[in-house]
Amino acid sequence: MTSVLRRTFFMFLAGLFLLPVPCHGGDSFEFRAETKRGPVLLQSFCRCPVEGEAVMLRLEAPPFKTAGAVFNGRNHSFTATGEGKYYFTLIPIELDTPPGNHEIRLEIVFPDDSRLDAPVSLAVLEGTFPSSKISVESCFTDPSPDELRRIEEERTLVTGIYRNRRSEWLGNGSFIRPLDGAVTSPFGVRRLFNGEIRSRHRGVDLRAPERTPVQAVNSGVVVLARSLFFAGGTVIIDHGADLFTLYCHLSEIAVNEGDHVGKGTVIGRVGATGRVTGPHLHWGTRLASVFVDPTSILHLPFD
Ligand SMILES: [Zn+2]
Repeated sequence: MTSVLRRTFFMFLAGLFLLPVPCHGGDSFEFRAETKRGPVLLQSFCRCPVEGEAVMLRLEAPPFKTAGAVFNGRNHSFTATGEGKYYFTLIPIELDTPPGNHEIRLEIVFPDDSRLDAPVSLAVLEGTFPSSKISVESCFTDPSPDELRRIEEERTLVTGIYRNRRSEWLGNGSFIRPLDGAVTSPFGVRRLFNGEIRSRHRGVDLRAPERTPVQAVNSGVVVLARSLFFAGGTVIIDHGADLFTLYCHLSEIAVNEGDHVGKGTVIGRVGATGRVTGPHLHWGTRLASVFVDPTSILHLPFD
């Protein structure tokens, strides 16, 4: 079996059973250290260590005051799972991260102020991303002054929501898909709007007929439920631990801002509102200020 086939096979299996796929090619790591307070174990889990993927770090350690992992200039604090079995943090491999070895620095401060500072290496592999052409109505590429004002207000609103994040974990076990539908536009695709390169796709598009129910991919708090200029009918859920999911172009929104939703709760229905060419669900996942491939989260072991 070629390595591509083998990977496809493992991803297929993981899709069936939601098993953690060890990072390919020995990239998953396990780090152990002995401290005078006891042993420390750090393990990584991800589907594949390429740009746009989420990586989970799990930590087992003696009681500590603070524990974090510094990656790419950001400090990611470890959070206890609901069951308190272990601590974890989620790290985004941001789009455009070059392949090669990248340092993750584990920093633990114990109650007596003694510290563990340890560098661990994350080997990032080369990713491949196609380009796609999209034509939309010119009002979306050339907004009027009123529309520009609306776009700016909505940007400020959404930025404020992301800043007001909850640090505790609100999720309940592993993530599920918002609906059963094929991916029509994957994460990271370079998008050309009316012939111009505008952006890379920072979510995945799932094919589904208009009015298909959309479910929350994990439990959390609804922090936005309203219509936006580009995204149309939109719901954003805060799952805690610096992780948000968003659902766009909805024809109907079934939740209110402030609602606590469980995993699988129907939050709205598929539509074609906002900047779209037909009905579909745009599903986004924002982790520590960076959008990652939502399907990468499905492969992380939260149980
Ligand atoms: Zn999309």
